[in-house]
Parts: sequence; C-alpha cells; structure tokens
Amino acid sequence: MRTVWQQLLDRLAAGEVTICADEVPRWDKNQWQTVLGLGLLRETELATAVVCDQCGDAHWAEVYWVTPGVKACFGCDAEGVIDIELDRLRQWRIDANCVAGLVASSLEVSSPIETLLRERLWRVGRRRLGGRYRDIFFGVPAGLPVAEMSAAIRASIGPGSALLLTIGANGNPEGLPSGQHLLDLASVSRVEGGRVVIDLDYVEERLAGEAPSTRKSSPTIPVPAGATWRDVSIMVFDGMLRITVRGKVHETDFAELGVDQRSQPIELLKLFAAARGTMDTTKIQELVSGDGAVKMRVRRLRQLLQELIGVDGDPIENYRKAKSYVCQFEIRLAGDDGFRTPAGVTWLDLAFHERVDRRILVTVPERQQFRARGAQSRSGESVREVAEERGTVTRTYSLEEMGLRTEAGQLTSEGAAFTDLLRAGGILPRSGNDVVVLKLAAQLQEWTGLDGEPLRLLEASRSWTAVFACSSEIQVAKGAGAVSGSRPRPGVVD
Ligand SMILES: [Zn+2]
Repeated sequence: MRTVWQQLLDRLAAGEVTICADEVPRWDKNQWQTVLGLGLLRETELATAVVCDQCGDAHWAEVYWVTPGVKACFGCDAEGVIDIELDRLRQWRIDANCVAGLVASSLEVSSPIETLLRERLWRVGRRRLGGRYRDIFFGVPAGLPVAEMSAAIRASIGPGSALLLTIGANGNPEGLPSGQHLLDLASVSRVEGGRVVIDLDYVEERLAGEAPSTRKSSPTIPVPAGATWRDVSIMVFDGMLRITVRGKVHETDFAELGVDQRSQPIELLKLFAAARGTMDTTKIQELVSGDGAVKMRVRRLRQLLQELIGVDGDPIENYRKAKSYVCQFEIRLAGDDGFRTPAGVTWLDLAFHERVDRRILVTVPERQQFRARGAQSRSGESVREVAEERGTVTRTYSLEEMGLRTEAGQLTSEGAAFTDLLRAGGILPRSGNDVVVLKLAAQLQEWTGLDGEPLRLLEASRSWTAVFACSSEIQVAKGAGAVSGSRPRPGVVD
C-alpha cells in the first residue's frame, strides 16, 4: 500500500494535481494530516461538480448554490435534489515548488532553489553524494520526457555530475549522459516526524554502484605535469574553443564538451573572453541572462573548465576586495586583436600595468549611459532620463598579443623599451632621435587606434615620458633608477 505522500507524488507525476475532499476519506487520517502539515497542498477554490453518492451510479453532478457560500446542492435523476456538506467541496492542489523545497531541506542544501523549467524542473542544490559533489534536481514528468529534463540539466551545468530525483522513473534510461543519475523520489523518501526524509544511505549505495564517469578520471585535455592555469590560453570562437597549454594547441567544439552554445557556462565564458578575463561581480550580474546568483554561475564554469583541462587549482579566482572575478588563464574572443578603445578616450585616460607574470593589464574608463523611462509629463510626453556612469574596463594582454614579444618568447626592441617604461613609472631615458621609441609610439597608436602622441620627449632631461599611467609589479634591481609601482600623474611634467 502506497503512503499518502507516495500517492500524492504519483498524482503529481501524472499531472493530476487537484485532490477533492471526496478522495480524502480513502486515505489514512494521520498521514493525511501530516501531509497537510508539510505545506505541499494548497487549498484551492471549491469544487463545481461532485460524484453522486446517492443512487449507486456514481455519476458527476453539477453543484448548485442555494445560498452562495452557505448552502449547496446537486441534482440526481433517481433521487432528486440532494444537499451537499460544504466540506465535501473543498479541494487542494499539489504545489510542486513546495515539493522541491521539501527535497532541498531533507538533503540539507541551503542554496536558493532555481527553476529550470517552470513547474517541471528545479535545481534544489548541491552536495556530496556517492563520493562526489553533485548538482541535485527535482523533476516532475507529467508528460515531459526524461531526455528533455536531462538536456535542460546539461544546458545548465554542463557535463558535471547531476542527480535527478523524479517521480515514476527509477534508474537511468538509455541515452542518459554518464554524469547524470536518475532516482525515483517516491522510492527514496518517506514522511517521518512531520518532515520528508530521504534515505541517504540507499541513495549513496545506488550512486556508488554507478560506473565511474570517464570525465572525472581523465579530463578531455591532458596537460604536462606541473602545468598551472597561467600556462593555459583559451580563444573563444562561435562554436568552439582553441585551448593552448604550453604551446600545444587543442580544439574542442561545444558539442564535444556536451554543452550547448547558449548554455549558461558558455555564455559566461564568452563574457569573460570579451572582457579578457577580468569582470566585476556587478557587471556579470547585469550581463548574464536568466536567474541564478553570479557565484553559482561562476562555480559551474569553473567546474566545466576543471573537467575539461587537467590543471589543478582554481581557474577563476574571486577577488573579494576588488569585487571581481579574474581568470587565471588567458582568454579572449577570436578576432579580438587590438584593444578596441572606447570612444572618447585619450592617452591620458589609459593605464598600463605589468603583472608579475609579465602580462599587461590595460585599464580604461568606460562611459555607460542608462536610459530610463520616467513618469509621463503633463504634456503627455514620456520623460526620458539619461544617466551617465563612468566605470573602468580592465583587460589583460600578453606582450605577444601587443606585438612586443615574438612567439619564441623574445622581447622585441620596442617591447624592451615598453617594459622599461612601465617599470620606471613612465620615464624612459633615451634620446630624441631614438628610432625604437618612435616605433614603440607608432605601435601603441596602431594597437589602441588612438591619435595623439603616447610618449613625449623631455628635451631638458634627454628622456621620454609616457602620457598614459605606467606601473609594474616587477622589482627592478637597485641602482637601475626605477621605482616599481609608481604611478605619476600622466602628462604632468615639470
Ligand atoms: Zn445519482
């Protein structure tokens, strides 16, 4: 005999979510009361029809109100007009969102529940189960094939491990990806002590028996021992990724990764690529589509990268103080060669900073305009407000990308002059007719698309000064005359 909880799950699975009062007497009274206490049944409008219990024919009969809300009756051809007790007209709807919440609390996961498919599929949280972390989903079939739920899970988390608790299907059907596992919620849960309890021992046992995922043991892209994320470079194309690890190039299309072009992790990866690897938390929140906290989005992308590339450590670090996420590998969009300087920017606005890993951080102000439709004015025109906010964009480049170092790792003469300039805080002691400096200036102009001189000659001191801000994390040996990290006001020269 199935419990009331299981029978309600059966009804939910079948899409028959309304329970009428006439059904209740068939059920165990205590179980019914307990289930009502769980909150998964929402009392809904009174029934407009009942099954006749008078003539033995069990036919449907419409409800007539003698006094609305107080006295009702129905008609039977054999027995005439019959009064109805109002309690017989009460109805409840099974609230699937609430069931998802009960699953989450019984698994003791605290992250907010995310709806993937309305009334059909929820991500209830993530926890360790059967030897690994898994994203846990609750699915209501009601006509929706398991394959569609599976695809939605894949689109949401990529090839990560997932446990789908659903109703009416137990064990993996054909074609379910190896990282996903399906279990019947009604078989692994019960109501006890006024709450839903999931039999975790049983779940662990079922999941442990599952064949180990091949992705887990061998990432798609093997890397040389000791490689770090700093050795990784990713170029994002429309349908694929070109991944370079210590000079070795791998190409993977999204289908091979088991993720959709438009899936959330790929969307986020593309945003990082467009921003060259550094993004403010608030910026991510503005740009990503759909619900879901930034933290969760980043975590999924992180997981996807870790399963794809066999490098230890965190590929995307959260710089809490700076309120930003920074990719520890190099990333950019294919075809992104120059700097794409925003309009209205001059050399005075730009800042170049050399990192310890010798990549160059370029910071530039970005003007953002927000148009807001305000209240209607008295003349009937809608009032538009234009708000302006100045933020900054930071992108990271390698010296190769800036054309200042050869692919073989050799600094060009201009590259050497450029790093000297950054390390000296913007001063370059070279003469006015130094061809290397003139070439560097031309190269910077071309790369940024900016007119105007990036470097100015100081005749008196026989040196050049940068119009943009210069700084470096690389310590220069004492006596070389350089001050690391100094950022003089650009363009201000005595
Ligand atoms: Zn009848």
